[in-house]
Amino acid sequence: MTPARRFRGGGWAASLLLLGLACGGGENSQTPVTPGTPRISPKELRGLEVTLARSDLRVGQVTGPALAYGRYDDGTTGIVEGAWTSSDPSVVEVGEDGTLTGVAVGRATVSASFEGFGDALDLDVLPPNPRHDRDQPDDLTGPQVHVVYALPSDVEDGNLDRYGDIERSLEAIQHWLEAETGRRLRLDTAGGRLDVTFLRLPFTAGEGEERGASLAEDLEGAIRDGVGTSPEKVYAAYYAGRSGDDCGAASAEGRVAVAFVHPEGCSPRAVGGDRETPSTYEAVMVHELLHVFGAVPECAPDRLETGAHVGTSVEDLMYAGPEWSGHDEVVIDAGRDDYFGHGRADCPDVSTSGFWEPAAGVGPRPPGARPLHPVIPSADWPVRCALRPRPAEAVASDPPPPK
Ligand SMILES: [Zn+2]
Repeated sequence: MTPARRFRGGGWAASLLLLGLACGGGENSQTPVTPGTPRISPKELRGLEVTLARSDLRVGQVTGPALAYGRYDDGTTGIVEGAWTSSDPSVVEVGEDGTLTGVAVGRATVSASFEGFGDALDLDVLPPNPRHDRDQPDDLTGPQVHVVYALPSDVEDGNLDRYGDIERSLEAIQHWLEAETGRRLRLDTAGGRLDVTFLRLPFTAGEGEERGASLAEDLEGAIRDGVGTSPEKVYAAYYAGRSGDDCGAASAEGRVAVAFVHPEGCSPRAVGGDRETPSTYEAVMVHELLHVFGAVPECAPDRLETGAHVGTSVEDLMYAGPEWSGHDEVVIDAGRDDYFGHGRADCPDVSTSGFWEPAAGVGPRPPGARPLHPVIPSADWPVRCALRPRPAEAVASDPPPPK
């Protein structure tokens, strides 16, 4: 008899993400596993641990797979092919590979067993969020960030709004921003919940991709037509399509931040895969929102001549310099001297934007402290941003035509 161990905390999820494992998020999930090798190795199995980066899912949602790790006597772990069962398949179904399907509202325990060891996790199945195709009555007045889930006309509905993925993405973003800056985004909520507008677009995914660098402006137009725009709002759009291999863009007018959510375009990472730890799409969304708020201004000492990014400090969220390699730390304005918190009167500082609110009880990051930071696969770093120069800058920053 093996005691079942249960894991619900975010800490475990975070350490899994460090291993490059993406759990959750349905079709975006990837299972880059290095299978354990218990049969050809002399090491001995000592226990089994079941993991999933979440403890809830929605009715109709398919997520996972949950993974079963064998723990060996030499201290190593490896994924094993456990036998999966659900305590109540009318609430949660579990597939042979650990894939989970929410069937009905309730709670069930999902268990794996392998070579006499076992482990389990409890899962709550919640009803899907209601879907809204209009901006709902606002809880706040004044500047705020309104979130949109935008699908090309021919793209299968991934329900990132109804299944809570976008909500989790913003939760992870807020956790990170609080730890990193002592502030959080002023988000548009309705009835205390994040107000996510669903927008079916008038163009196909293929047409969107053909639009190339103009796609962000097309999205801005579609949001204006379909959602309506308020002069006090900026828009954070999770767009279910690709634009080459770009991950994000901001429109020329600076009102819309876009993340291009596509497994073959930007990244197979899930949106909101972990509500504590931001990953690729969370970093992309903050990067693009910072553009919308005015980063990186021309007066910034580390700004690239070619556009609104910085060229020093590869760990800077707004970095777009020559060194393109993975980095295990992501910070907002590494030197606090370019776009956030520099405090100079003669240069725009996005920390003074009205789209922030103070995080209750959280101070800014002390110098030298290692903050909570996004966990991003090296292939996704730095952010691949398709920002077009703003009209006023286009003339000044365009290189002279070749002779
Ligand atoms: Zn950018």
